[in-house]
Amino acid sequence: MNLAELLARAGRSEPDRAALFLGERQIATFAALAGQAAALAGGLRHLHGLQPGDRVGLVMKNCPDYVVALFGAWWAGLVVVPLNAKLHAREFAQALEDSGAALCFATQDLLASLPSDGPVVVEAGSADWQRLLAAEPVAEPHPQEMDSLAWLFFTSGTTGRPKGAMLSCGNLLTMTACYFMDVDPIGPGEGLLHAAPMSHGSGIYILPFMAAAATQVVPESGGFDPAEIAALCRHHQQISLFAAPTMVRRLVRHPEIAAGGLLGLKTLVYGGGPMYVADSRDALDVLGNRLVQIYGQGESPMTITALNKARHLPGPNQEQRLASVGIAQSLVQLRVADEEGRPLPVGESGEILVRGPSVMLGYWQRPDATAKTLRDGWLFTGDMGVLDAAGYLTLKDRSKDLIISGGTNIYPREVEECLLTHAGVAEVSVIGRPHPDWGEEVVAFVVASDPALDAAALDAHCLETIARFKRPKHYRFVERLPKNNYGKVMKTALREALAGES
Ligand code: AMP
Repeated sequence: MNLAELLARAGRSEPDRAALFLGERQIATFAALAGQAAALAGGLRHLHGLQPGDRVGLVMKNCPDYVVALFGAWWAGLVVVPLNAKLHAREFAQALEDSGAALCFATQDLLASLPSDGPVVVEAGSADWQRLLAAEPVAEPHPQEMDSLAWLFFTSGTTGRPKGAMLSCGNLLTMTACYFMDVDPIGPGEGLLHAAPMSHGSGIYILPFMAAAATQVVPESGGFDPAEIAALCRHHQQISLFAAPTMVRRLVRHPEIAAGGLLGLKTLVYGGGPMYVADSRDALDVLGNRLVQIYGQGESPMTITALNKARHLPGPNQEQRLASVGIAQSLVQLRVADEEGRPLPVGESGEILVRGPSVMLGYWQRPDATAKTLRDGWLFTGDMGVLDAAGYLTLKDRSKDLIISGGTNIYPREVEECLLTHAGVAEVSVIGRPHPDWGEEVVAFVVASDPALDAAALDAHCLETIARFKRPKHYRFVERLPKNNYGKVMKTALREALAGES
């Protein structure tokens, strides 16, 4: 089934209901939004000659046109490639080239970051965009199967080259069904507020809200502003939002919200990085029984486990429950396994494996990476965890050494590779250090070959090649890196060294 069927259905059953807001301003009803998606599909097919299965890049900050672009592309049977708006120009170019995108929608602020020799660029809202919307509409969403590719979800690559998790219509419809079963039921008249990037979780959650003919609300700032979020929840009422744990912390510490809660908030879904128990308790105190935690990854989008509202409530096991990421969502099978994939007994720590219709088709044009990650029908998540007798999963570590700062993933290897291209760097190792506001911050240990090398030079070097948010916040210049017998850098020793400083 084509994902745009959800919009087509809402357009028929709730034609006059508000579908899309920019702040407090209504942008479209469901009938209008369905009409725009059908027209955009026509424009993409007839004016640009795109064929079902072709890829369309989305290099856009959060805006109402994001929803039009997503559903217009799907309506035409195309595959969307949403990219994090904070990426570096080099990273945009790489992902667009890797995906073979034939066309790219972009917001005005990001045009300058796009490659001149890349795909055709259509600026959202421009005359070209209007021409697409004036095209002969495609009457019905192009027929799709459950295993038809719908979304290429680019994860930062550990080898410097990003990997595109191939998400099918079936994967995303599974996520949609699990939202209703395991996260929260949604009724018409409710809304989803996009305070987090629509290229990731917030954008994925458009689907369950579309299935319920509920409203999408995009803040005018296009980003995360606690005061604006408070005002929009108050205005719209019955609002849900997805936020990274660091955003939850900032929300509940905002003076206005700390004093009066978030009037009009129905549900706050958090995930994407570790939430500390003390922070969950603070959030429960300020926001009340409105919290749901999810654990997922691009390879099984938003759909591995959930800790629903009831499971946040006080009880004999509240402490352990809040420290966990909840229980398996209804349509996935969960296993904690040893290196061979054999299930481990309750209470033993191992790699988290997932099986079910939410699991990606594989990595785009990366058969080797796919074979490593999908084995015997199981997704090897790279996350470590432990299950208890009641089925609650607690994450232990991230075996891939991922750093999560401000809710965004940073792969140390990518930063290390960038630093190693500086002539004055002999060796380097990058780790995350716990940070009260950001979750983690990036710290680089550097063995310099040039005694004059300093942090400012390395910072300037990083700015040339990787996104700003990935560059180290601190440098430690050392004589040598601690290594084990195999010559592998022992990151645990580096972490201990940092912990010893504070
Ligand atoms: P991404 O593929 O960008 O969605 O990142 C997924 C990774 O974020 C997972 O593999 C986990 O390491 C981490 N993650 C996601 N949800 C949670 C959570 N609720 N608690 C802790 N870590 C999480």
